[in-house]
Amino acid sequence: PIPMADRMHRLPKQFFANLVARIEAKVRAGHDVINLGQGNPDLPTPPHIVEALRAAVLDPRTHRYSPFTGLPALKEAVAAFYEREYGVQVDPTQEVAILFGGKAGLVELSEVFLNPGDAALVPDPGYPDYWSGIALAGAEMIPYRLEAGRGFLPDLARVPEADWQRAKLIFVNYPNNPTGAVADLSFYEELAAYARRHGVWVVHDFAYAAIAFDGFRPPSFLQVSGAKELGVEIYTLSKTYNMAGWRVAFAVGHPDIIAGINLIQDHYYVSLFPAVQLAACAALLGPQDCVRELAAVYQARRDAFVGALAAHGLACPPQPGSFFTWMPVPPGFSSSAMFADFLLDHADVGVAPGIGFGRGGEGYVRVGLLAPEARLVEAAERIAKAVQSRR
Ligand code: PLP
Repeated sequence: PIPMADRMHRLPKQFFANLVARIEAKVRAGHDVINLGQGNPDLPTPPHIVEALRAAVLDPRTHRYSPFTGLPALKEAVAAFYEREYGVQVDPTQEVAILFGGKAGLVELSEVFLNPGDAALVPDPGYPDYWSGIALAGAEMIPYRLEAGRGFLPDLARVPEADWQRAKLIFVNYPNNPTGAVADLSFYEELAAYARRHGVWVVHDFAYAAIAFDGFRPPSFLQVSGAKELGVEIYTLSKTYNMAGWRVAFAVGHPDIIAGINLIQDHYYVSLFPAVQLAACAALLGPQDCVRELAAVYQARRDAFVGALAAHGLACPPQPGSFFTWMPVPPGFSSSAMFADFLLDHADVGVAPGIGFGRGGEGYVRVGLLAPEARLVEAAERIAKAVQSRR
């Protein structure tokens, strides 16, 4: 074997790689698998954004390197977007970094902050990509529990004092992957008070900003007064505008953190494809009906899926945000991994076992609402039938 660097061995193994391989094997063997295990939006990017890309590509100026901190026009669009959507004033020259997708930004933030031996607080259950940057930095993660009884918010008072003291930053994510929970402004105010008191930097991952239901509008962490002195918010276009493949996101917050991200990005990539940056401007500044329609689509899917489960006697509380349903493992199954395997084997439905998101995810599976309504109803019916056949 090639003698790789130690950090390669520290990187967490892709927990879901095994599941994906099994799903693919079933599909190849001719099974009609409904794969709800991954988080890949199935809807197309709105046409006006695609058109903006087409026009931008035809302009030879987009064929060159753009400034390494991103196109000024896009940073100004981000500032206008935050003002319009959240009433937050942002300095586009100092407080915005353009990212190669939110995931890269999250990893880079650990590189910006963490020395070997440092620690970061991460949600449990939580999005596994927070772990990647922490591992690359040679730092340690300290999980904090999202509590079912509190709508999958943490009880910040129950995070041990020693953990607050040790941690250099805290990753927070609402609307939440994997639980579908949402947070209101009072939660962020409390978080800001803890962060200030303990000198812990906040990274708020706002990936599902636009996806919440029943009239709830998720607030931005930056709406808390003084939040920009406490950390950054990461916003990706992947979910809001169905642009997951385009790899474009941004960070907004403390100018020194923004400068740190920009420095790292300059060393890795120089900059994003300028035409994609111009299309991102069109997304942020153009008509927003597509965003409202998106949330309505996911709400209808959620209701159809959860309703079909309920009709067959399977309990699954409807989640208030994100495109993930967090389904309790029914009685009689010993673990989330065992239930996920069972559904793939006996229902041809792929779901993500909760344990893949941390120990706090045990007892649940994550179901992506990433197929048309009729397919989701069929998945729910197959799940119910398989579960009943085992009773
Ligand atoms: N954060 C969360 C919680 C996510 O679920 C995702 C994508 O799945 C991301 C961040 C990153 O998205 P992207 O890298 O496409 O911007």
